[in-house]
Amino acid sequence: MRTVLLATSNPHKLDEVRQILAPTETTVLGLDSLGLDLEEPVEDGTTFAENARIKALYYARHTDRMCLADDSGLVVDGLGGAPGIHSARYSGVNGPRDVRDRANNEKLVGELESIPDSGRSARFVCAMCFADPEGRVLLESTGTFEGVIVDVPRGTNGFGYDPHFMVPSLGRTAAELSPEEKNELSHRGRATANMLALLRSSKV
Ligand code: IMP
Repeated sequence: MRTVLLATSNPHKLDEVRQILAPTETTVLGLDSLGLDLEEPVEDGTTFAENARIKALYYARHTDRMCLADDSGLVVDGLGGAPGIHSARYSGVNGPRDVRDRANNEKLVGELESIPDSGRSARFVCAMCFADPEGRVLLESTGTFEGVIVDVPRGTNGFGYDPHFMVPSLGRTAAELSPEEKNELSHRGRATANMLALLRSSKV
């Protein structure tokens, strides 16, 4: 049995990754379960992949554990790729996660008011990095999830931008998908599945 730290305190992300790695001999711990008093690293990368690397290396070094980190966000075509790597703090509003999510979604819908419908195509992107406490990047993977931004939120599952992210082939938002359905399709599901394949085929 292998134990891996997932560098997140987002319970939704932890559940998603745990579910995908469940068939493997891997226990996935979240940051909260370690009871650490660590400052968060400065995520000053310019890409999802760079920020995932920064987080994985930082937490692996400071916890002395193998660490899996993801950096993810929403890329909207009509907004020149925004919110992108700034997805978590797009609105600039601080506070609990649900308050930030609401403010981010309001800003997103507001910014799209003057954009033609063709600019509503979007994708979630996830970059994952697996690093060891010696400062080595062992494996990296990515995943994407294509959709369209809708003004009226729908669904109560998931988190973040999910209620505004419509999956055209299903006619449902990501917040209307069951956790299993979302894991099948989502950026994080795909990045985790790709990571799993790399873990299986490597000697790591
Ligand atoms: P991270 O935690 O730094 O990766 O920030 C990612 C941000 O992107 C989150 O706070 C959400 O706003 C957004 N995001 C990432 N993944 C998802 C998802 O699966 N659904 C909805 N929003 C997401």
